Order: sequence, then C-alpha cells, then structure tokens
Amino acid sequence: AWSIHLTRHNTPPWDTTKSAELYGIHRWGDDYFGVTEDGKVTVKTQDTAVPLLDIVEGMVERDLQMPVLLRIENILDTQIMRLNEAFRRAIDQHDYSNQYRGVYPIKVNQQAQVVKEIAAFGERYQHGLEVGSKPEMIAALSTLQEPGSLIICNGYKDEEFVELGLQAIKLGFRCFFVIETPTELPIIIERSKALGIEPTMGVRIKMASKISGHWNSTSGDRSVFGLTATQLIEVVDTLKTENMLHCLQLLHCHLGSQIPNIQEIRKGVVEASRYYSDLVSEGAALSHIDLGGGLAVDYSGALSSDEQSRNYSLDEYCEGIVETLKQTLDEYDVPHPVIVTESGRATVAYSSILLFNVLDVNHFEPITLPQAQAREHTLLESMREVFKYLTPKRVQECYNDAHFYRDEVRELFTRGQINLRERSIAENLFLDILHRISDLLESMERIPADLEGLKLSLADIYYGNFSLFQSLPDIWAIDQLFPVIPIHRLNEYPSRNAIIADITCDCDGKIDRFIGEHETAETLALHPLIAGEEYYLGVFLVGAYQETLGDLHNLFGDTNVVSVRINSDETFDFVKEIPGDTIADVLSYVEYEPKEMQLRYRNTAERAVKEGRITARERQQMIKTFDASMRGYTYYEKEN
Ligand code: PLP
Repeated sequence: AWSIHLTRHNTPPWDTTKSAELYGIHRWGDDYFGVTEDGKVTVKTQDTAVPLLDIVEGMVERDLQMPVLLRIENILDTQIMRLNEAFRRAIDQHDYSNQYRGVYPIKVNQQAQVVKEIAAFGERYQHGLEVGSKPEMIAALSTLQEPGSLIICNGYKDEEFVELGLQAIKLGFRCFFVIETPTELPIIIERSKALGIEPTMGVRIKMASKISGHWNSTSGDRSVFGLTATQLIEVVDTLKTENMLHCLQLLHCHLGSQIPNIQEIRKGVVEASRYYSDLVSEGAALSHIDLGGGLAVDYSGALSSDEQSRNYSLDEYCEGIVETLKQTLDEYDVPHPVIVTESGRATVAYSSILLFNVLDVNHFEPITLPQAQAREHTLLESMREVFKYLTPKRVQECYNDAHFYRDEVRELFTRGQINLRERSIAENLFLDILHRISDLLESMERIPADLEGLKLSLADIYYGNFSLFQSLPDIWAIDQLFPVIPIHRLNEYPSRNAIIADITCDCDGKIDRFIGEHETAETLALHPLIAGEEYYLGVFLVGAYQETLGDLHNLFGDTNVVSVRINSDETFDFVKEIPGDTIADVLSYVEYEPKEMQLRYRNTAERAVKEGRITARERQQMIKTFDASMRGYTYYEKEN
C-alpha cells in the first residue's frame, strides 16, 4: 500500500505542564492564560478561567466562521488598572509629590470598541487619549466623557486640527498641543487669538539618548520628530514675545516603542528631566512631563533585553521612571510634575487573539514503499545501501550520498532514462534517509554544519485559515514574533514539527519563527490532525497595531471579530460580534461595483442559455451561488 506513514517518534511521557513549558505560556502570558488538566488553553481574568475552546464552540453555534479575532474586554480593563495602580504604588513608595495620568495612543488600535472600552473603564483613573491626526482627534472628542482626562495632540497640526483642540479646551478637557516642528507654533498662536481661547501647549524634544530595539529611530539626532535645543529656545523666545510662555505646560518625549532595556528608559528620563528643569528656569509654566510610549511587551517571554522582549516588569518600569524623575528634579529643586505616559502596545496587545483552524497539512515524509523489485535501477539499489551504513559517525557521508543519488535520478528522469515510478521510489528513499539522519542528530553532541537546516527542511506545513497580510502584518513586515499555540490537546504529545502557511498564494504568507523554550525556533511542535476533528491554533498578543496595518492581499478581508467578557462565575458573554468583510465588501474597496457585477454575470449566464450550454434552471442555480458568494466570507468556509 502506498500510504503515508508519519515518522513515529517515541512518545515521551507528556502532560499539560510540559506543554505550558514548551509553548512558554506562563513566560509571555502575563497571568492571562493557562491550561486546564484536559489540555485546553484558558483565558483568565481575576482568577476566573475560561477555556478558549468553549468560546470557539460558542462561535460555531452562532455560525461565526474561522478565522476570528477574539477580544477579551476584561483584559483591556485589567491592563489599564495594572498600569495606573503600578504608577500609584511607585509614587507612594518614592514619595513623589505629584500624580500619574495615562493616555492611550489611539493609533495603536483605533477600533471604536477598543477605544470606547479604554475610555469608559479609564474614567476612574482619568485615563485620557493621545491623538496624532484629525480623525483620531474627532474620535477622542466624541469618546471621552471625563473632562479631567488628558487629550495629547501629537503629529502635524493644521488650522482645523488646532481649532478642534481649542474647542476641546473650551469644553473643559485638558488638551495639549504638542509642538513637533517650529512651523506649528504660528498656527496655534494665530488660531487661539482668532477664537479667543488660550491654548495649553507642550514641546516635543529630540532626545540624544538612543535606544536599542526595532523602533529606535524616534530617538537620536536623526529622529524625524521633535525640536532641537536651538528650536526649543526659538519656541520659548517666541512665546515670551507673545506673552504666552505660561501656556507652555508640558514637556514631551517619546524614546521609541517596545524599549527592551530598562537602563535605556532611565537614561532617557534623566535627559528629559534636564530639559524639563532648564525650561522651568527659562520661565515656562511646566506642570506635566509626558514620556511617550515604549513600555514593552514580552512577546518571547524571555525577560531579556532582546528586541522581542523586555528586561523589566511593569512595576520596575514605573519605579524606574518615578525614582529617576524624583532624583533628577530634586537635584535642581524643581517641583515634581504630573507624569504622563502614552502606553499603547502594552495596554492592548494581550486583549486580542487571532483564532484559526488548520485546513490541511503537507508532510515531507516517505510513504510505505513496496518491496524492492528483483531488477531495480542501480541508483535505487545504491540508495537502499545507504541505510546499511547509516550511523552517527557517518551521517554526513549518508547525507551526501543520498543527495548525490537523488540528483542523479532526477537528471536521468529529465533525460527519459528513468520513469516516473522509479523517480517516486527514489524521492521516498531520499526522504526516508533524511528522516533517519534527523532522528540520529537528536542524540548527537555536534551537528555537522551542512545538516543544521535539516529539521526545518523536513518540517510539515500546516495550512491555516487566515491571511498573514490581513491579520498579522508585522510578522511579514518586521519579523515580529507572536506566540502561536494550539488552544486544545495540550495533554497530548505534539509529535509534529511544523511551519504554518496562510491561505494567500504568496510565499511570504507563512509563520516560520516561533518562541522556543530557550531561543527563537524555526519550527513549532504541533499535534497530528485527527480526521473529522478541527484543530485550532491561536496567535496571541496581537492587539497592538495589527488590525489597521493589515491589507487586502488576495482580497482576504477583515476577519470576524468577537468581543467577550469573562464573568466571575466562569461563564462568559458574547458582548459584540462584528461580521468580517463579505466578498462584495472587499471588491467594492477596490472599486468594483457588486450590483453591476451581479448583472454582468446574469447576462453571461443568459448568453450561455442562448448558446445551449446550460438550461435556464441551471442558470438560476448558478446565479444563486454567485449571489450567495458575494454575501459570503472571504476565508475558507465549512458547511455546517
Ligand atoms: N506615543 C507616540 C508619540 C508614539 O509614536 C507611539 C508609537 O510609536 C506611542 C506613543 C505608543 O508606543 P507604545 O505602543 O510603545 O506604547
């Protein structure tokens, strides 16, 4: 029988603790995720844990097809609470004589649901919003209810943007215009005079302190944002001349996003404090210091100063800022300002999980071959010989020989001297040899350099029902690492090594870097598929930046979104469903007109009736299918 036989690894004793360790759930999960005894991944808020699979079953009952972006509302709330409480503790601990006011930068996840939840829950802490454009400003103005909350206006501001901000001030909001370039100042002065509303302003400084990590270009001399020391002096002098220096109340700096190293944050705070105290000496009525974003997410769970990690906890971050500010400002006898941060990534990353089902697997495994024929081609005989000298000492030689014979067979096939059946046997013998070599390597201390990529070259490809470009663009664009794990069967040994491909027809549409137990891994351990059963994977920590940066590659649209709230009695509520894009939606984004398309298709079918290719009844059926597809989901759908 020519059936595939999956390499049988000896199944080691296995339990959920081992899975949790393997997938690093407790390292990157920040206490939000766990595993039940029967191997299901849970989402936890305030000691209440709910299996994600139960939520998925709820989706299936509601006919919500995969992929689904799942939002856990309570995680957003808890993150806002953790941030505010951690600053409060640090302020108490260090006798800092002012308070913390957080703002959420809308750009990090602009979805109305997310921003509304942050604003609503954040009211108790007067948690405000940071905006970087007019649309974000409008979103903030129509969302915030608590006037004590800050609105920080970053980015380039035209007259209209400034007018909206001035209106906000008039309405009682604490709205700051952060001057990013000298050209903004005259606009703010002119508009405020014209409307008779005094502005509250900030200045964004260009920091010399450089940080490591991916988003470091927002600091240093060549940063595209912020004022140089000379420009700052010009701003101060202009405000003095206009008798408006008292309007300058905030100092802003943003070292970068995802700052992995706490030492660099502290260094940045020292530099910002020096600017702060000198601007106070210049006569500015500063009362707020805004340290921007940067609080990192430990995506890899390594607790290190690696790009995808952070070498500090939330408490250490807050303490580092509060203590450094206090020490530096006390030296210059400057009153402590309100501390503002614009944490985006850390606020929203944990709350979203991309869930998808696996559609298929491509195994790079030999099939069970029939017995060797009496008169086989000599190349096939030579390949069978390799198994006889396959020992740890001779793995390199076997590897070389297998390649040599396989390539010879391919060459002879091209020249018509070997037939398809013989080539197939050779390809299978080749795979068999490579798998056996790979097994031997597991127990070897030193792996020959040529063989280092062997495991990856034999890895399965699991095809996931999602588009990387739509849902996980940072994996493609900047090699971002997100935890990817199965959400069930964690009590079973994951015997397969795999990479994950999406359903776009693009060779970049794959995930092939994973969180390993000690370092980044090229493959992920997964379970063999079981016929007739779904296998669900989750990509975690995807709440920041992914949704809006995603694109329509292959016209895969927005996924279904489901928001869930976990209750204290271990139940959960579906609080909101947002259906993903339909095929008609995505086509209209690229300027097709669905109605016209339907009409054209009807005409094409009518022509076929006239030409006798189909009957009128068949035409009706075809039109029905076409119309239903237009209303349907862009992803792979399974009939219930
Ligand atoms: N504030 C500003 C000015 C930013 O440019 C950014 C993003 O880069 C943020 C805040 C959010 O940063 P993070 O997501 O690291 O908290």
